Amino acid sequence: MPNPTPETGDAEEIPFDKLREECGVFAVCGHPEASNIAYLGLYALQHRGQESAGIASSDGRLIHTYRGMGRVAELFTPEVLGGLPGNMAIGHTRYSTAGDTVLLNAQPFSVHCNKGRIAVAHNGNITNAAELRRELEREGSIFQASSDSEVILHLVARSRERTLAGALREALLQLEGAFSLVFLAEDRILVARDPNGFRPLAFGQMEFSGGHTCHVFASETCAFDLINAVYLNDVEPGEMVIVGPEGMTRERYAPLRDHSHCVFEHVYFSRPDSIVFGRPVQESRENLGRRLARECPVDADVVVPVPDSGTAAAIGYAAESGIPFRQALIRNHYVGRTFIEPSQAIRDFGVKLKLNPVRHLLEGRRVILVDDSIVRGTTSRKIVRMVRNAGAREVHLRISCPPTISPCFYGVDTPVPAELIAANHSVEEIRRFVEADSVAYLSLGGLREAVSDFNHDFCYACYTGNYPTELVNIDELMSARDRR
Ligand code: AMP
Repeated sequence: MPNPTPETGDAEEIPFDKLREECGVFAVCGHPEASNIAYLGLYALQHRGQESAGIASSDGRLIHTYRGMGRVAELFTPEVLGGLPGNMAIGHTRYSTAGDTVLLNAQPFSVHCNKGRIAVAHNGNITNAAELRRELEREGSIFQASSDSEVILHLVARSRERTLAGALREALLQLEGAFSLVFLAEDRILVARDPNGFRPLAFGQMEFSGGHTCHVFASETCAFDLINAVYLNDVEPGEMVIVGPEGMTRERYAPLRDHSHCVFEHVYFSRPDSIVFGRPVQESRENLGRRLARECPVDADVVVPVPDSGTAAAIGYAAESGIPFRQALIRNHYVGRTFIEPSQAIRDFGVKLKLNPVRHLLEGRRVILVDDSIVRGTTSRKIVRMVRNAGAREVHLRISCPPTISPCFYGVDTPVPAELIAANHSVEEIRRFVEADSVAYLSLGGLREAVSDFNHDFCYACYTGNYPTELVNIDELMSARDRR
């Protein structure tokens, strides 16, 4: 029987200030099979992180946690789920970069402190976590992992407030940056979102046997679809929601601030079948493609998406331009970890493992290749070469967002500017690097319109370098990226 208690994992020492990001969170309160529901929720959120996953459940007295490296379906066998009893549960899926795949950082984190037993799962990146941790360590706190999420538990534990809600409120007000948080206590669930609302957090209701209902929370609404829950609205930026024995309370814990929803959730990260920040993602992506076709037309024979990230935008591009849409790159959906040596030669081979061209759709054709972004340019180059080697006469790369010129410090994995091709190169230089006949990007105005951002509610820092919060320790944040 697997051990459903916090694992010790690999004791390798990791520098704290590495950034972690790209996660999915889920919470359910008041369901007799809470951990099974959390499992299904995480299953639908798997795309938000495939390195590790975890569930913590409460039976009203004890918190049971199981975390592991790998995917949700592999980790949570019926046996493991059987060891996670109770009618409340939270869950987490996490992505991390190579070298940082330690079990110690898998979430939820759980502790037993003067506020009782609590567990937390976090999506986002707390930009002042390093300072907070230094301060806490100076005052005697001992940290187990290198994750910024652990800081939150220490702040809660040290608070002089008598109630958990009071301690959490005090802790949240000390945090800067991006956080969509789900907490589990012995008898309640607490969820909160940062005042800018960087990362999504949806709120829903689920009906189950005998006409009972319960509350559910998830990074994306696709998790609700799988469990037949109804999406009600979002946890508001700066809001804390508590569901416990007294029912549900919603309170604003922070003063109102301008919103900074991550536009990249709509461009790439979220699933197209989700509603994120109150907008259907598929609709945003098709709009991006339509605008791209208007802004960057080219005479060609076929529009081909880079699957899956470019598919919805390519549908929009084809519809707007009248050029036929063809799925001429086929993705192998079963590519997981390969157990072959990650030497450069094999890594170059990597794209072929994932994508294969349909030669008869490409041979002799002028191809518009649509993708959502170019980061380093290396994958794009391999795909352009693949399409050309399959017989395409011309390859025109169209990107459904502006050039990525700045790293994200709010929860999306982007490399340092030195590795971001658009931070240091013109579009013409990028074209030469990826070996395309032409390259064009959607404008910032086009992106804004595609997501209907008439009230300036989105963050575009990765395209502009204008960060919506003060980044006091930007050099430290930057060097944390450099070390990865
Ligand atoms: P490259 O040509 O190496 O810059 O890779 C571009 C590809 O990376 C595109 O297909 C994107 O969909 C994908 N991509 C962009 N941002 C991310 C991200 N944060 N995580 C994983 N893949 C990404």
